[in-house]
Amino acid sequence: MTTAFFYDEQSFWHSGGNYSFMAPVGGFVQPAATGGLPENPETKRRLVNLMNVTRLMDDLSVVRAEPASQIDLIRVHTGDFLTTFKTTSDAGGGETGLRAPYGPGGYELAALSAGQAKSALFSVLDGQYRNAYALTRPPGHHCLRDWQNGFCLLANIAIAVEAALAEGKADRVAVLDWDVHHGNGTEAIFYDRAEVLTISMHQEHNYPLDKGDFSDRGEGQGYGTNLNIPLPPGAGHNTWLEALDRLAIPAIQSFKPDVIVIACGFDAAAFDPLGRMLCSADTFRQMTRRVLDLADITCAGRLVMAHEGGYSEMYVPFCGHATLQEMAGSSIDAPDPFAAALQIRQPGAAFEGFASGLIGEMAEALP
Ligand code: ZN
Repeated sequence: MTTAFFYDEQSFWHSGGNYSFMAPVGGFVQPAATGGLPENPETKRRLVNLMNVTRLMDDLSVVRAEPASQIDLIRVHTGDFLTTFKTTSDAGGGETGLRAPYGPGGYELAALSAGQAKSALFSVLDGQYRNAYALTRPPGHHCLRDWQNGFCLLANIAIAVEAALAEGKADRVAVLDWDVHHGNGTEAIFYDRAEVLTISMHQEHNYPLDKGDFSDRGEGQGYGTNLNIPLPPGAGHNTWLEALDRLAIPAIQSFKPDVIVIACGFDAAAFDPLGRMLCSADTFRQMTRRVLDLADITCAGRLVMAHEGGYSEMYVPFCGHATLQEMAGSSIDAPDPFAAALQIRQPGAAFEGFASGLIGEMAEALP
């Protein structure tokens, strides 16, 4: 087996409390019939279920990880932040940041999620697997050093990357975030660091509203190793691939990383309730194919993905299945039952020309 798949049923037991979609239940907000918060277990569990039904799971090495250690966490997060999080979690849970609630045991579940990202990265750097996917939950890319944000309780990828750098397993790491929201936490943690390239492709000014501008290129030693690629709402398959081809891939190629880490959200898909993009399962397949080829020519195939957002219960499984099928080089397909419906919703040539112009302007502005 060349592809590892890290997941743990326990991580599906993380609970964010009594919400009806984004709003806390109470007053005129009736409890949701199912699901509650958009970030709920079903999108993830149904991906696992689909891979079991098609037997794609048989083509993967299924691995369980240990939680990230205190040493791993303190490389990224402040001591005060970790103490407050642990105390609140032990007392039954709550909310110590913005839009990132958790229940009892939230601390341990978040440490497990970070441990999955770390183990996936280490398994590839140690040469056990060619590539690896970590079905991390809760997600991580919005979490700052001292503040939880947007369903993210710990900075999973940053914790994994810092551990790899500290233990001498890698010298240079490229993180490409294709979640539809800006990877503000990962950006902030590595903003002044030359050895970590952070790239975020996202819907402009979606979440967080005031982050993710193209002009934010890093600072000090890290100037030039942060790249934001804000895309207009309504962009679809062709625009996302063009942005990847013309901006993200050349930046990673010239950075020459030892490994590529993808912050893999599926919320740029057309049915997502928290994004306004028109990508399909085939978009994620094609993007995965491209980063696999990129990893082959830049870093001996070393590619790791850590799960971030993706809130369409019925569509995330097909996007994830296409991604993992590509990673594993498997012939086991789960045909996209929504492909025809999405085809007719793709943006027209005029919009694509407009988006292509924006991408061209960004490409010209880069050194
Ligand atoms: Zn997202």
